[in-house]
Amino acid sequence: MYLGIISMIDQIIDFNKSFVAQKGYEKYLTDKYPDKKLAVLSCMDTRLTELLPAALGLKNGDAKIIKNAGGLVISAFDSAMRSLIVAIYELGVQEIMVVAHSHCGACHMSYDHFHHEMIARGVTDETLDTIRKCGIDLDQWLEGFKDTPTSVRKTVETIKTHPLVPKDIVVRGFIIDSETGALEEIEEQREQSRTCSSFAERRMRKASRQMDAAFALEVLDKAPYVTVSMMRPDGSPYGLPLSLARTDEKTFYFHCALEGDKLDCIAHNPTVFLSAVTKCAPTVGPKDGSFTLQYKSATAIGKAEIVTDRKEKITALRAICQRFLPHHMDAFDDAISRSLERTAVVKITLQEPPVGKRKQYDKEGEELKWGRME
Ligand SMILES: [Zn+2]
Repeated sequence: MYLGIISMIDQIIDFNKSFVAQKGYEKYLTDKYPDKKLAVLSCMDTRLTELLPAALGLKNGDAKIIKNAGGLVISAFDSAMRSLIVAIYELGVQEIMVVAHSHCGACHMSYDHFHHEMIARGVTDETLDTIRKCGIDLDQWLEGFKDTPTSVRKTVETIKTHPLVPKDIVVRGFIIDSETGALEEIEEQREQSRTCSSFAERRMRKASRQMDAAFALEVLDKAPYVTVSMMRPDGSPYGLPLSLARTDEKTFYFHCALEGDKLDCIAHNPTVFLSAVTKCAPTVGPKDGSFTLQYKSATAIGKAEIVTDRKEKITALRAICQRFLPHHMDAFDDAISRSLERTAVVKITLQEPPVGKRKQYDKEGEELKWGRME
């Protein structure tokens, strides 16, 4: 090394040569199968590098340890879940421990912070915009989990109810103390467990037809209208198909008169439920002759509010015009000057990523399942 700065990786390479030469590896020799038939999903935190296996009494060869920021399964088909599936089917794992830890850095992460850092390091807003338009919800992807026990429960629940995880696999959740290594078991919430399991069963049954947020956003974009359901002040249900336009992965707008049922509902209860369907076709099931329906659908829950900022109002109306009358954008400014004051604009901000569903057959008459695309 001729230059002044020796990188950490270079130092590690040097260390590695002497480690191998002095047969430092001998005491670690084992095979790829975990002796304890155990997988541990935990956080990448540096305090846990040695503490976690030491506090759990795990030696080399005992367990599959999977680590990421927070020790989370974020979605049913993410890389942590994939590793667990491999651990179960390829490596004979029978029990899974989800081990979060105290004072986890992933707890209070926020996208705003990342955004700031990314821009400072040369990522452009254009790049971030492009990623958004591909349906990636960066806010959600990079957001922390706020409450550790709830997050552990959620990850345990996702693994337990996963359609590809056999029923006999034991899954338990814990929080480990980052200093003492003490484990605290996080029990499933008893109150909710009964309803949860029936939800879980239902979710499993439907999971083969469930699609991700990007798919759902595409349905919401392409549907000729989106049904917006709300609640009247007297508690009775209300809903109607509306022309919605979207400006990012969680913001939708529609416009209406300055007074009416919609605004009354929203003023009383801002929660709204969106649903949309495309590619709807009654079909005779190609394999079994059953009467069925092919479709793509999307649902989402959001909060509605009346837009008061004039600039935002115009941006929203422009998005609506762009979406429904793109060839008449030249008349947009006139229309605005004529009717802006007589028009109310409502913004809907999604509270969770939208969920998609579909039933579609391929050319061979097989139903497309588990997100299969072609
Ligand atoms: Zn952590």
